Amino acid sequence: MSDKEVLLPGGHGLMVRGYLPVINTLAKGLDIRLAHRVTRVARRYNGVKVTVEDGSTFVADAAIIAVPLGVLKSGSIEFEPKLPEWKRAAIDDLGVGIENKIVLHFDKVFWPNVEFLGVFCWIDQIQYLVSRWGSDVNSLGSYSYDTVGKPHDLYERLRVPVDNLFFAGEATSVDYPGSVHGAFSTGLMAGEDCRMRVLAHYGELDLFQPVMGEESPVSVPLLISRM
Ligand SMILES: Cc1cc2nc3c(=O)[nH]c(=O)nc-3n(C[C@H](O)[C@H](O)[C@H](O)COP(=O)(O)OP(=O)(O)OC[C@H]3O[C@@H](n4cnc5c(N)ncnc54)[C@H](O)[C@@H]3O)c2cc1C
Repeated sequence: MSDKEVLLPGGHGLMVRGYLPVINTLAKGLDIRLAHRVTRVARRYNGVKVTVEDGSTFVADAAIIAVPLGVLKSGSIEFEPKLPEWKRAAIDDLGVGIENKIVLHFDKVFWPNVEFLGVFCWIDQIQYLVSRWGSDVNSLGSYSYDTVGKPHDLYERLRVPVDNLFFAGEATSVDYPGSVHGAFSTGLMAGEDCRMRVLAHYGELDLFQPVMGEESPVSVPLLISRM
């Protein structure tokens, strides 16, 4: 038996400028610390203490863990106390596949204007970039997959919070795993669950101030090339 893929309506499109315009818009007004690789997450009833590689710590009421499944599998983030058995089983039992991209840069366009291309020739002065997501410590894989013979609820189990730890990212999406929209929607869900938890804890709405106004929809000018 196989899971049926859920497809969104509409055609495929190429984000001409990549996802940066989306990320920049979503990040507006947020205090984002890049290059702060988390090494430890300590959970207590009334808070979470996160330690990063240089030893600095951050304390909050709750935390959303959105690191890739490969990073969770590697054990490079120590959870204290340990994550419960059902959560660890979900991390172990979901698979992580590897797919990479190779970008080739040529001095001039020498190929015909077609979507699929098979050309073999020897070109000098070629520049190239190769992703290595399988060995990159920030990803340790490309995206999740169901492993044969394992339970069907692994994505859901990966998403379910553990007290004040919430989980997001493509591998927690039941309907759209392995996709940007899956990662995005689980982020929204985890944010809302986290907000409800903090509200329930403090019981006062004005203690919780969302960074982005809830009334104003976020709009991002995008350049999308239809395929
Ligand atoms: C080749 C390829 C093609 C794809 N094509 C498509 C496509 O056409 N359409 C589509 O919808 N999806 C596509 N995907 C899938 C999509 O890119 C992913 O599913 C999506 O980006 C996952 O988002 P995420 O937020 O879960 O994880 P990520 O985008 O990987 O974000 C996780 C973040 O956690 C950070 N991190 C890692 N470790 C730590 C740590 N210890 N402490 C702090 N931060 C840490 C990482 O630096 C990263 O910023 C493709 C993927 C690949 C590999």
